[in-house]
Amino acid sequence: MTLKVIPLGGIEEVGENMTVLEYGDDILVIDAGIGFPDETMPGIDYIIPNTKYLEDNKKKIRGMIITHGHLDHIGAIPYIMPKIGDPPIYTMKLTGEFIKKRLEEFHLLGRSTIHEVNKDDVLTLGNFRIRFFRLNHNIPDSVGLAINTPAGLLVYATDWKFDHTPVDGKPTEFGKLAQFGAEGVALLMSDSTNAEKPGYSMSEKTLGETIDRLLLEAKGRVIFATFSTLIGRVQQLLDAAHKSNRKVVITGRSLVNSVEICLSTNYLQLPAKGMIIKMDQAKRLPDNQVVILTTGSQGEEFSALARISRSEHKTIQIKKGDTAVVSASPIPGNERSISSTLSNLARLGAKVLYMKILDIHTSGHAYQEDLKLMVALTRPKNFMPIHGEYHMLVAHANLARDVGVPESNIFTLNNGQMLELSSAGVGVKEARIPTGYVFVDGLGVGDVGEVVLRDRQVMSQDGMFVVIMTIDKKTGKLTQQPDIISRGFIYMKGSEDLLKEVKHEVRKVVETKNKKPSEANWAYIRSEVRDQIGEFLYQRTERRPMILPVVIEV
Ligand SMILES: [Zn+2]
Repeated sequence: MTLKVIPLGGIEEVGENMTVLEYGDDILVIDAGIGFPDETMPGIDYIIPNTKYLEDNKKKIRGMIITHGHLDHIGAIPYIMPKIGDPPIYTMKLTGEFIKKRLEEFHLLGRSTIHEVNKDDVLTLGNFRIRFFRLNHNIPDSVGLAINTPAGLLVYATDWKFDHTPVDGKPTEFGKLAQFGAEGVALLMSDSTNAEKPGYSMSEKTLGETIDRLLLEAKGRVIFATFSTLIGRVQQLLDAAHKSNRKVVITGRSLVNSVEICLSTNYLQLPAKGMIIKMDQAKRLPDNQVVILTTGSQGEEFSALARISRSEHKTIQIKKGDTAVVSASPIPGNERSISSTLSNLARLGAKVLYMKILDIHTSGHAYQEDLKLMVALTRPKNFMPIHGEYHMLVAHANLARDVGVPESNIFTLNNGQMLELSSAGVGVKEARIPTGYVFVDGLGVGDVGEVVLRDRQVMSQDGMFVVIMTIDKKTGKLTQQPDIISRGFIYMKGSEDLLKEVKHEVRKVVETKNKKPSEANWAYIRSEVRDQIGEFLYQRTERRPMILPVVIEV
């Protein structure tokens, strides 16, 4: 028998992380994340992994293990769990709290059991024996997994970095990593996000000092935007606020939620009682005693910061002397909206600071030297880079080779491939299981496919053009001038000449292609109109709107 390692997401993109391990009759699922759409996916809210394979094999699923509480690792849980039989979830305390909150939002809480594990627990699920080890990442309770299987020991490490001075004072468990190395690791799977960045990632501590200084030096209020799950950053902000004698107002639903969860579970410590106050209390304090902690670090349209920047926030208005800070590295694709939010804030009179450079260097993901150290500590026989775009995986593969993993033992997979391990050896196989994107748009999951998406792309680029033809079914001739409706293509009022020509062309097509009205084939007429009018419009405008021919028989 062989161990199958099947990535369902996360190896050709950043996001929707999900990995399946299968041995005999046992399946173990690791993480269930969402991804975010790029500009080629208009209207899409999220991307989730394709779980058809798990749905077909749900009887085999022994459990789901979640490494940490970021959305690209837990976000798809509510979409997926009901389809795969609500298997039990095993995870650390804080991650469990985030999952519960998310399930609650989808009214799914209570369907599958969430087991809280401790980092020193040993878990046996079917053929898998699972141990945990603490890693550093920018959310507390991030763990890696060491999984004993009949085909050997697997070490699964994502997302992680090494930080000797993390905000929560709990560094990576290097001892355990070395121990696994001594036991003999058959396969290491590791985070490739920053595999192209030389050196070491910076400690969170450096950033803390910067935030301290910023709050001490600002003369007025500070509006500080970050990610709701960057708990370490929130702690640093609270500490800095205390040192500069400021009180903290929190705005933005996701941030209020996660601060609440973390305070009640002691993952956040308030340096002083009564530090968190409401906006109306803050209004009675001098400006230099106030920090406003807000969501919106990615420029999200409806986030608190974006609303503040458009003067649409209910209780918070920017005034001269405010300092607005964005502290979270931008998710690729969001730079534009962050930048426009910052400009709006500046227009309102705020001093604006974007901690992008500093933030990128204190990324939650390991840089090259740390990645090499991980390989050196665990000394894997085989290596598989995960979590990244394909070029990042290749960069990571090169690093592993540099520190001594033979080229032939390094496996860079594509979605749809799997790795098979047995005592006899390792090989890549075509998995022949459905992978690829499943789109979430509003309440619809998976109903927007490639075709719908292509239509949206066409419409968003060149608009649409509707041709309505009223045709006499006896004579096969148009009974009146065709009607034209255009959206996002041309402005009808200024284009009378073009429209006149189009109508003429339509008439020509109908009358030459519809010679025998008794055998009229409307689908054929429509497709001829679509092709010929499309070509005609392209010649005149060099645009390709979506053309929708409509035939009305009279
Ligand atoms: Zn993460």
